[in-house]
Amino acid sequence: MVKAEGVHKNFGRLEVLKGIDLEVQPGEVMCVIGPSGSGKSTFLRCINHLEKIDAGRLWVDGELVGYRQKGDKLYELRDHEVARKRREIGMVFQRFNLFPHMTAVENVMEAPVQVKRESRAEVRERALALLDQVGLADKANAYPNQLSGGQQQRVAIARALAMRPKLMLFDEPTSALDPELVGDVLAVMRKLAEDGMTMVVVTHEMGFAREVGDSLVFMDGGVVVEKGHPRDVITSPRHERTQSFLAKVL
Ligand code: ATP
Ligand code: MG
Repeated sequence: MVKAEGVHKNFGRLEVLKGIDLEVQPGEVMCVIGPSGSGKSTFLRCINHLEKIDAGRLWVDGELVGYRQKGDKLYELRDHEVARKRREIGMVFQRFNLFPHMTAVENVMEAPVQVKRESRAEVRERALALLDQVGLADKANAYPNQLSGGQQQRVAIARALAMRPKLMLFDEPTSALDPELVGDVLAVMRKLAEDGMTMVVVTHEMGFAREVGDSLVFMDGGVVVEKGHPRDVITSPRHERTQSFLAKVL
């Protein structure tokens, strides 16, 4: 579903990604950990066309990110084509960024109605089903400021799912939440994983990584230091850098 080969990303002189090679299979849940500044968010943003890579190649669902192939020639995608590609990927951030003047169900309906021009009635039904799926059937008509952080984050997940993405990216979705609200959000993500969604999850919730992740990646300094089965990486990391990082988060 995702394939990265030698992906480089610079911001000016700062080399942030220094050759990332990774593959995420359909249905795989890949968790990503690593110190602040190691390039985790940047990598997600590259997958989601929010940043352009400087070298290497990146594919989502077999298609080269940012380019269209015709014969053996590559053409850069235009803005509207990039926007269309981005819609096939759901992204959930640390901050939920719901539209404050819209209810939960309106937030979930917004993109399919405005962007995909789907019928309101159909989308509304799907949005209510998604809110039910994230445990918020009774909050459909609540405004974001009437919801807890965990509830808002679950609305944000439902909102991403409303576009029927083939891939979901999570960037530290629980790190801004009070500890007692984290569990509900992780439970929703776990269910999504069990239903077969392909997911890349940047998180320091090691319990989630161990129980739900199919693979665990440790990034440091813009490279993948280690990737393996979560249990193996957590209990017997091969690299000293992974060991010392895990000692801090476990
Ligand atoms: P954290 O755990 O703190 O979220 P991260 O692993 O997600 O860290 P990134 O956000 O990917 O790290 O940032 C990697 C490096 O790239 C950092 O040094 C950051 O300052 C830099 N960086 C990120 N985005 C930009 C940008 N738009 N312009 C310039 N530098 C940037
Ligand atoms: Mg980050």
